[in-house]
Amino acid sequence: EDSDLFPLRSPVVCILGHVDVGKTKILDRLRRTNVQEGEAGGITQQIGATFFPVDRMRPLCNRASETLPASGYSDVPGLLIIDTPGHESFTNLRSRGSSMCNEAILVVDIMHGLERQTIESLELLLARDAPFVIALNKIDCLYGWKKIENAGFFETYASQSQETRDHFDKLFGEIRTAFQLRALNIALYPEAGDDHKECIPVCPTSAHTGEGLPDLVSFLFTYGQKHLAADLRLKPQLDATVLEVKVIQGLGTTADIILSNGALKEGDTIVVSGTDGPIITQIRSLLTPHPMKEIRVKNEYLKHPSIAAAIGVKICATGFETAMAGSPLRVAYHPEEIPVLRDITENELQDLLSSFDREDTGTTVVASTVGSLESLITFLKTINPPIPIANVAVGPVHKNTVTKASVMLEKNPDFACILAFDVPIDEDAEKLSDELKVPIFKDNIIYRLEVKFTEYLDGLKQ
Ligand code: GDP
Ligand code: MG
Repeated sequence: EDSDLFPLRSPVVCILGHVDVGKTKILDRLRRTNVQEGEAGGITQQIGATFFPVDRMRPLCNRASETLPASGYSDVPGLLIIDTPGHESFTNLRSRGSSMCNEAILVVDIMHGLERQTIESLELLLARDAPFVIALNKIDCLYGWKKIENAGFFETYASQSQETRDHFDKLFGEIRTAFQLRALNIALYPEAGDDHKECIPVCPTSAHTGEGLPDLVSFLFTYGQKHLAADLRLKPQLDATVLEVKVIQGLGTTADIILSNGALKEGDTIVVSGTDGPIITQIRSLLTPHPMKEIRVKNEYLKHPSIAAAIGVKICATGFETAMAGSPLRVAYHPEEIPVLRDITENELQDLLSSFDREDTGTTVVASTVGSLESLITFLKTINPPIPIANVAVGPVHKNTVTKASVMLEKNPDFACILAFDVPIDEDAEKLSDELKVPIFKDNIIYRLEVKFTEYLDGLKQ
């Protein structure tokens, strides 16, 4: 095939799971195990991600039971593992990042099994049809565990006492049953076969001792090589997603981007989704962290005239104040493309907002990003009794949001109100809200919005 002539890029790997299962620790451990030898060609901390080059990971992977194939021209050059998803940006990624992530690690604490956020992540991965491996973490907590630092899982398992192995088998069995109840099969990765829709592979790990990490990393490389080659051929098309929007002293509002395919250069005209409509702006600079971070040089970032996938990069440009995390970033290569991309971006947001279930009679719900809106809607629907939703919006509360909400005064005045999650409220909107008697409940914690709303309803009844 002609396309075989093109080299592969690194797969983008997301790491998901319930809080405290060890996501951050796994990445810390991988960085530490391999970072001693300095920078050149080494592991690099990028914007929102860490890059693990294949050659640097090879010694570790040699301890796995299925080691990496020998190096060749068409090899996956590394893994770009996204490591910032704190809760907020993660929910944002959930709403759109389907194209961003090539493979995923679903971390499960072996002592705790399937926890709530793990189930959420699992459903998301299944819905997105994203290939993933389960890291069954914290095996060092098993009864009587004797560690062998950085050993492959099967080596360390074989050297444990019968009691320890029994404990593992028992907990693994329970977790397998929990998956079976969701009509899913899991198996240790060498036994999971090649069809991961049939059976989800599991690598038991410890982020504290490094055990099982050789297996996890080998698995990610091998899977990328065997099954993702078609997706990973470097293509000219751009595929970039906004991970986070951040104010940085001296730089203003910047956008952290995962560039999973294609390239960006200074001066490019870009279009991203903003809460007040599409943002059209020019890339002023493309930044990655300075390799010698410890020296605290005045300029912490390296500037790049252009940059190619896969990489995490910070973009400086004007107008990012309203940019939304989770949105795709597009480039207009010719001026004629600008209005086209603006329409695409605008429609995409509208389509997404209109895809949420709504009622004829209900409250108006506003949040800062599509992701947080999704979380808020899910919450309001699952509480008992659920709070009905008639209108949704992303971004600051404007006058027209109040006007929309006021329509309910005729249908059911109880619901003529706005639940505003983590968003500013215009002065005009505030005024109109007083005039029309359409209260705005504002909070940056979701459940407190419910409390405020319920108290208000109780007040109305009296
Ligand atoms: P995250 O919320 O998923 O990022 O979890 P962290 O990486 O912050 O880990 C949460 C807690 O679990 C920390 O106290 C870690 O030290 C601990 N932890 C993480 N991985 C392991 C592990 O493999 N073994 C043990 N014993 N503790 C772990
Ligand atoms: Mg963490």
